[in-house]
Amino acid sequence: MYVQLLKHTPEPEKIVSLAARLCYSPIRATEISNTMSDEDVKRLIRFLIKVGHHSAIEHASFTFAVDGISRVCSHQLVRHRLASYSQQSQRYVKYKRNPDYVIPKSIENKQDILKKYEDFQNRSFDLYKDFLENKIPAEDARYVLSNAFPTQIIITMNARELLHFFTLRCCERAQWEIREMAYRMLNEVKKIAPTIFEHAGPACFRGKCPEGEMMCKNPPKEDEVFERYLS
Ligand SMILES: Cc1cc2nc3c(=O)[nH]c(=O)nc-3n(C[C@H](O)[C@H](O)[C@H](O)COP(=O)(O)OP(=O)(O)OC[C@H]3O[C@@H](n4cnc5c(N)ncnc54)[C@H](O)[C@@H]3O)c2cc1C
Repeated sequence: MYVQLLKHTPEPEKIVSLAARLCYSPIRATEISNTMSDEDVKRLIRFLIKVGHHSAIEHASFTFAVDGISRVCSHQLVRHRLASYSQQSQRYVKYKRNPDYVIPKSIENKQDILKKYEDFQNRSFDLYKDFLENKIPAEDARYVLSNAFPTQIIITMNARELLHFFTLRCCERAQWEIREMAYRMLNEVKKIAPTIFEHAGPACFRGKCPEGEMMCKNPPKEDEVFERYLS
């Protein structure tokens, strides 16, 4: 999978801190100036996150291009409603050749199972091709495509939704493919807004795990997690 941060609000931490500062200053919005030092910006953002004044964080938005995730993954992704998505259409765009379908590690590591998996994916694509050749419209031929087939999607989320998304999807309880995607996204936004995303990730990065009996046995450590997911 490929995850690229395409665009983001310029100086996202500045805009968030200006918005927050207005809430606490007896001045006109148009007079909010850019005089805060980097240290002030950091302090204010940490304060917002600590006290839960998260609406100010919504002023920063991030747009990602994601290639090569499966439809299994994209289906989970689009359950996050406070985001905008543009996904390549299977009605207007036909697969020309058998695409690089996603192979889960649990399957990749077992030769006999992998063989069955590959046979199935190939059969799925052959049937699709056969339907298209027999003038079945792409919107109907796609019914025989496998969930493992790759998709491309552009995602825009504001920083508040991203923090929520990372809490749910970087958690070990999340399914591995969306978890990997979430860590790749987190890795990108940390470079641009390091204070907003300072402790972003599963809830256990910030305190007690809320998963109760479902708690994982091998919680990731904040300082080594990117090595674990991005290497
Ligand atoms: C480990 C895991 C397992 C899951 N298993 C399943 C499953 O078995 N079946 C299944 O169907 N889904 C499952 N999901 C998906 C899950 O139920 C959510 O649909 C998904 O995680 C999106 O999260 P959300 O609704 O919090 O967030 P978003 O849609 O990203 O919304 C963010 C927040 O906005 C608020 N919000 C958004 N829309 C509304 C609304 N209409 N009303 C009130 N508040 C709103 C809520 O506070 C919400 O948390 C699973 C998710 C995870 C992480």
